[in-house]
Amino acid sequence: MPARLTFCGAAGGVTGSCYHLALPDGELLVDCGVFQGRFDGVDGDALNRRPLPFDPARLSGVVLTHGHLDHVGRLPLLARDGALRAPVVGHPATLDIARIIMDDSVKIAQHARGEPLYGADEVAELTRHLQPLRGYGDTRTLGPFTIELFDAGHILGSSSVRVSWRDAAAGADRAILFSGDLGVPGAPIVRDPNRTWDADRHALDWVVTESTYGDKQHTDRAATRAAFRDVVTRALRDGGKVLIPAFALGRTQDILYELDGMHERGELSTRIPVIIDGPLALSATAIYRRHPGCYDEAALAQLDRGDHPLELDGLIAARDAAASRRAVDRKGPAIIIAGSGMCNGGRIRHHLREHLDDPRTDVLLVGYQAYGTLGRALQDGIDEAYLGDDTVPVRARITTLSGFSAHGDRDALADWHAALPLKPSALTFVTHGEPRSSTAYADHLTARHAARTHVPSLLDTVDLT
Ligand SMILES: [Zn+2]
Repeated sequence: MPARLTFCGAAGGVTGSCYHLALPDGELLVDCGVFQGRFDGVDGDALNRRPLPFDPARLSGVVLTHGHLDHVGRLPLLARDGALRAPVVGHPATLDIARIIMDDSVKIAQHARGEPLYGADEVAELTRHLQPLRGYGDTRTLGPFTIELFDAGHILGSSSVRVSWRDAAAGADRAILFSGDLGVPGAPIVRDPNRTWDADRHALDWVVTESTYGDKQHTDRAATRAAFRDVVTRALRDGGKVLIPAFALGRTQDILYELDGMHERGELSTRIPVIIDGPLALSATAIYRRHPGCYDEAALAQLDRGDHPLELDGLIAARDAAASRRAVDRKGPAIIIAGSGMCNGGRIRHHLREHLDDPRTDVLLVGYQAYGTLGRALQDGIDEAYLGDDTVPVRARITTLSGFSAHGDRDALADWHAALPLKPSALTFVTHGEPRSSTAYADHLTARHAARTHVPSLLDTVDLT
């Protein structure tokens, strides 16, 4: 019997990453993230509450590509009622990040309306199954599968996962590569997505690739940096706030890195206070500091010079609720970084309620804004925002800085794909994108790179023959 692949998330949309691979003698899960915003016309929260389309007790293993919520947020559901018996493996930095992301989900759920998706007990049970791999290039056998991680260049520890197995009927070894989220070559701190493959040892029959920006080209980093500097300069001049809804992981550290660079180069007249509002972003920054082994050469060189790339004078950390309230009430110019990255929850909403009606305010959208989230609505130019019980007129400037994205654009994705050690008959599944983006990217791969592609829908199952 051939391996059977089911797309349990991130097909027909960007969030909810979860792929299930089954052989008669073992089953493997790659990621188990939550759906966010609206997904294929359905509310993401409703999808998160649907029963999982497989039995967690039958899994030989779970592999994580990275620690973002939309890749790990449903993991605790696997451990409900002690169902999970298999290890959950990944890069050590990924497991560190996954742990704080899951803890944070429980905390946020305690303050939200409605029944939480899971509680601290399920997170504790799941945590007992976490087993770090040694890092990139390390292999591990999970039931009939062998897995290996390669740097995906997206956030700390982010990995593409190669899964191989013996196909007895065909008398051949088979392999599939899950891209995970792919970063932008040249982005700071982390290394670039892996491009060095051994054509024989890493040969691939199938690829599952993300396509978040499969139909877009990013503004280049230099232009993005200049736009960011203009916004900060204006805030210093008129006393406005710069609100940056950011995923606690990745974007926050990138923004700190860029600000540090601006100060180093003397591009700002004075220091602007930077407030990181939220315990999660602070823990995440601490994890970044614990894993310098994941840094690229520039960040390591900076570290060698005694200048930590994530250390910034004037950084204010608002951990608890009282400190957060003080941050909201604070007068004068400031950069405020707070989650969630798509504005559909978290402390950023308090800052938006306070400052969206002020024309001196800038809202910088630096990450992907999924359909159906407040971040996406702001990006699309709404006049009024609904924040809890308040309706706030939008007078702030809303700016999208795609050049700070943690996801490669179409050309970066296609260049990554072109370097893969594909067998002649290889088939590429294009997922993790809104339908328009996935289809455009699949067409691009076929037209420009003669790739065989398929764009699956949510819960599609395919036999890997
Ligand atoms: Zn991600």
